[in-house]
Amino acid sequence: MNPYWSRRIRDIVPYTPGEQPKDRQFIKLNTNECPYPPSPAALAAIKQAAGDSLRLYPDPECADLRSAIAERERLSPDQVFCGNGSDEILAFAFQAFFDPEREVVFPRITYSFYPVYTDFFGLKRREVPMNPDFSDPVDLLCGNNGGVVLANPNAPTGIAVGLDTVEKLLQANPDVVVIVDEAYIDFGADSAVELIGRYPNLLVIQTTSKSRALAGLRVGWAMGNPGLIDGLRCVRDSINSYTVDRLAQVGAAAAIRDEGYFQSIRRRVMDTRAWTERALKEKGFTVLPSQANFVFARHPARGGRELLDGLRARGILVRWWPIPEIEHWLRISIGTDEDMAALAAALDKFI
Ligand SMILES: *Cc1c(COP(=O)(O)O)cnc(C)c1O
Repeated sequence: MNPYWSRRIRDIVPYTPGEQPKDRQFIKLNTNECPYPPSPAALAAIKQAAGDSLRLYPDPECADLRSAIAERERLSPDQVFCGNGSDEILAFAFQAFFDPEREVVFPRITYSFYPVYTDFFGLKRREVPMNPDFSDPVDLLCGNNGGVVLANPNAPTGIAVGLDTVEKLLQANPDVVVIVDEAYIDFGADSAVELIGRYPNLLVIQTTSKSRALAGLRVGWAMGNPGLIDGLRCVRDSINSYTVDRLAQVGAAAAIRDEGYFQSIRRRVMDTRAWTERALKEKGFTVLPSQANFVFARHPARGGRELLDGLRARGILVRWWPIPEIEHWLRISIGTDEDMAALAAALDKFI
């Protein structure tokens, strides 16, 4: 332990991002990136913006990007906040809306950044156990808490809840903010955006990282009541006003306006997901019903760690966690058809 570290970080166990290998060519099915390139319109906009104007700070309010999002979602720009990836927006939201006295609640098996944020920001948390089928324990997220965080669809299970369930959470927790993390919403589930007008405690967070093939650009956004948006702005402007750079703002805006390209790649991912589910089931895997760009699967005769290592030895990266409830499971991102055929072939070799 370095003696110069503050007390605040001494006991923190930070989030571990999925591996980004540099040494050899792997088929990367471990970080839920999109296997297709970004929208050509987004790349053209970024190239166009890579010039003299980089001398200047970006627009801290991301005005054009916010109008692109607002227009698509039929919101007004004052209901939209943009940030450096949705991870940053989540970090701002935990600071803006949760107090140390009351527990923040979320499902026990979910995005592993949430417990890191509660620790780091000095918040209490209550992680509620999953239902036996890994669906979200919705009743346990209702009432008696200081805030709710729900990934919908959930990660790493891929299971989504319907809007009736989101509405139930909003009604059962009227005095606290309910964050719905929709990183994977474009792969088949229903967005809670349409509830924003009726629920001032709803914050919906989305990202260009998964369904718009721009994980490297780092752009996410929150949508909610203008009062919540102002809370996020208050945190941001107390840390760093310029979190979304010029290239990111124009690239993300162009990607969001390129609806046709977006529809075509998300459709391809969903088709490949259906093929992958069938292929895995034929090999004896149990596969949870996924509405995301990954599947969560286990094999009755092979442990998760064993499968992880066996696939890695054959050049395929997937994700596995040493957590008791899910240690037999693998999270497998949906790649191209060729990637998934290679996965199927590799599995045939050792199961
Ligand atoms: C990938 C992911 C994010 C982070 O997305 P960025 O916008 O790339 O920061 C947030 N929440 C969940 C559940 C994710 O899986």
